Amino acid sequence: MPPSGPWLYLVLALLLVVVGVLAWRMGRLDEQRRTAHARAHQADHRPHHDALTGLPNRQHFVHRLGLELERIVAARGGGQGAEEDPQRAAGGTVVYFDLDRFKVVNDSLGHRVGDEALELLAERLASAMGEHEMVARFGGDEFAALLPGTEDEAAACRAAGELLELLERPLVVAGREVFIGCTAGVCLYPRDGDEARDLVKAAETALHAAKEKGQGGFAVFQPRMHMEANRTLSLETRLRRALDNDELALFYQPVLDLDGDRLVGFEALMRWQIRPQRFLRPDRFLPLAESIGLVEEFDGWALEEAARQLATWRRDGFDGLYVAVNLSARRFENPRLPQRVREVLRVHGLPPEALELEITETVAMRDPEASCAVLEALKSQGVRLAIDDFGTAYSSLLYLRTFPIDSLKIDRSFVRGIADQVTDQEIATSLIRLAHALGVKVVGEGVETPEQLEALRSRGCDRVQGHFLSPPLAADACTDLLQQGPWRPAQRE
Ligand code: C2E
Ligand code: CA
Ligand code: CA
Repeated sequence: MPPSGPWLYLVLALLLVVVGVLAWRMGRLDEQRRTAHARAHQADHRPHHDALTGLPNRQHFVHRLGLELERIVAARGGGQGAEEDPQRAAGGTVVYFDLDRFKVVNDSLGHRVGDEALELLAERLASAMGEHEMVARFGGDEFAALLPGTEDEAAACRAAGELLELLERPLVVAGREVFIGCTAGVCLYPRDGDEARDLVKAAETALHAAKEKGQGGFAVFQPRMHMEANRTLSLETRLRRALDNDELALFYQPVLDLDGDRLVGFEALMRWQIRPQRFLRPDRFLPLAESIGLVEEFDGWALEEAARQLATWRRDGFDGLYVAVNLSARRFENPRLPQRVREVLRVHGLPPEALELEITETVAMRDPEASCAVLEALKSQGVRLAIDDFGTAYSSLLYLRTFPIDSLKIDRSFVRGIADQVTDQEIATSLIRLAHALGVKVVGEGVETPEQLEALRSRGCDRVQGHFLSPPLAADACTDLLQQGPWRPAQRE
């Protein structure tokens, strides 16, 4: 007989309790399972992701790229003559980015703002990725994107260009607008390698090639870039030994004063002698010396060597001469420079006005107030000071007026067209007027023809240098030139 009356309620209540307990236990089990799963996921996620941005890290990226390569090999029949699946067999692109001005933001606005900028850029990149695409942070300000399906170079360039454009848009961090921008290297897979690590290396090599051309833009990997990278490495090894091996040399370019056409001094220009009779010009090795931290040492050597040579000439009776020495930004910003200059002059027994120090307009205007202080410290010793490559940067006239300088050197690019191009003529005329209004001498650089010389002379330019007068020469050839008396054009370098 079925229970009825109070028994029915009792049975129903018991059933409810049993069901409740069962449900609770199952819920607990489920929760425990979920927690365990989440823990496992976290443990799994952490080593593969970047803590700041949450993007996959380099290891994860390389792993994914490896899987991509396996997929392609399998779809292409694994070399076993099997049927090819065109869709799955398509290759793709790796883009390796380096942010251009991240360091500036980090240094000037602080690490917190730097981190915020990285997070925002990571978000921006991640949201631009398609279904099978991936962006990873490799550390610091380096990122990489994996773009399957963009097999030909045109598509790869388009994709890289779009990502670059995305990173060039301004960011708002800590209430200000900052422009970071980036440079990138691109490689195609499987075209440029069949190992994931080799492909990442290829994209990185392309990035370095792009950077060599200047910041911004991108380069597509070419096999010769590896060779060039190796060459740079061996060049670097040699350059590190150049000073000890006595391979640095100074050439001297005469400076002609147009008041009486007298040879009044020389500009010392550095060369690296890599073989007998084979001298490299500074643009071939100074940027590398700068990037590996050697340029200050090289400049220090040039100052010492130029002073030694000048002392020799002066002892030989050419006592009105001066020598101009170029300073790199680092050297100019080194607080020990004035002291070092004083020592060099003392050791070689030179009057301070026999030495001229040249800094480029770009370096002088980077931090005009700091530059003014350094120039004052140098000037107080009596050395001459020149602003080089004048006209190529953005000078503030206000600061220019306060700099204690003796001359402005008009950049060669304005001298080139001075004989026949109205714009260059007008620019040169106003630069000369400006210099004279500031009470300093003007030196025209890169004079290659008699017409250019006369055009500068007729505009009141004080001094000139250039191949028409003489290319830079070894010290012995300069001694011959000094001994031959009044100026005549010399032999070529
Ligand atoms: P700069 O100071 O503007 O030197 C003038 C450059 O113009 C020299 O190039 C010189 O050889 C070249 N030049 C002179 N006349 C003519 C001409 O008529 N036509 C043409 N086409 N070129 C002419 P160089 O010797 O290759 O030096 C290049 C730059 O390297 C220099 O430009 C200077 O900025 C830097 N540099 C040279 N020596 C040193 C150094 O000892 N220390 C540092 N930090 N920089 C140096
Ligand atoms: Ca110079
Ligand atoms: Ca110059």
